[in-house]
Amino acid sequence: APKHNYRGRFAPSPTGPLHLGSLIAAVASYLDARANRGSWLLRIEDIDPPREQPGAASAILRSLEKHGLHWDEELMWQSRRSAAYLEALAQLAAQDQLFACYCSRQQTDRYGNCSGSCHSSYPGEQDKIFAWRVPLASDYVANWQDRWQGPQSWPAGETLRDFVVQRKDQLFAYQLAVVVDDAAQGISHVVRGSDLLDSTPRQLWLQHLLKLDSPAYDHLPVLTNQQGQKLSKQNHAPALDDRKAPQNLRLALAYLNQPPPPTELNDCASLLSYACEHWQWQSVPALPSQMQSDLSL
Ligand code: GLU
Repeated sequence: APKHNYRGRFAPSPTGPLHLGSLIAAVASYLDARANRGSWLLRIEDIDPPREQPGAASAILRSLEKHGLHWDEELMWQSRRSAAYLEALAQLAAQDQLFACYCSRQQTDRYGNCSGSCHSSYPGEQDKIFAWRVPLASDYVANWQDRWQGPQSWPAGETLRDFVVQRKDQLFAYQLAVVVDDAAQGISHVVRGSDLLDSTPRQLWLQHLLKLDSPAYDHLPVLTNQQGQKLSKQNHAPALDDRKAPQNLRLALAYLNQPPPPTELNDCASLLSYACEHWQWQSVPALPSQMQSDLSL
């Protein structure tokens, strides 16, 4: 058996090329895994074709390689995992933890919850189903210790009630796919952006229902622009220039508040091995305001 059982991962959605914000998340999860002598796995979360950008998946893979961020084991593609997702849905259904929701978008409340009558209602017409949801126990509280965001406690309530696991158009929801695949890849540590903080209680609940082990969850502050907006594909964050990979890595390390590698190191492999030896997760800033980009968008 391996001495070190840390298994981390990076799980980008191919909605666009990597930008500085996603590089920071990739580098942090990579360094945390490598500094713990763990594995670092990669998964392309291509389960939402309408939101995909043609060529984005291969651009992401190329970019990671150009930045020296080499992953272990076989790359996982969510588009090839339908059988596993259907099995999880069947398991939920068998436990009576899956219900058809007939609410249109207008009928769900402002937090996206079902209006409330679907769960108990007699199954209606198949073609009126808008989504498949899991109910959440009203006394449920998700607790976890987040290294950067501190102790987390998320009680069930208005903002955390039931949630979609499969959509009307048959597409699997992120919450379902991520839980099934983190388990399949044996992930022990999830390091990702704090924009996903409110997904974690849902993922912990699904792990409970599906009797899966929960990884540790740690959320990095997301990189924002000067207006405090998340740097993202939606607000046109510039794609990384792969020809400047070493500079990009230095910038990512600076945002992560890591000791600057000596100036004579100028290839990605040496920069990453230095960063790995000197990785201090305690130095990573906890607040988005400490990770503001001066890039003009
Ligand atoms: N695919 C998700 C995204 O790109 C990240 C999933 C995760 O790290 O859990 O936002």
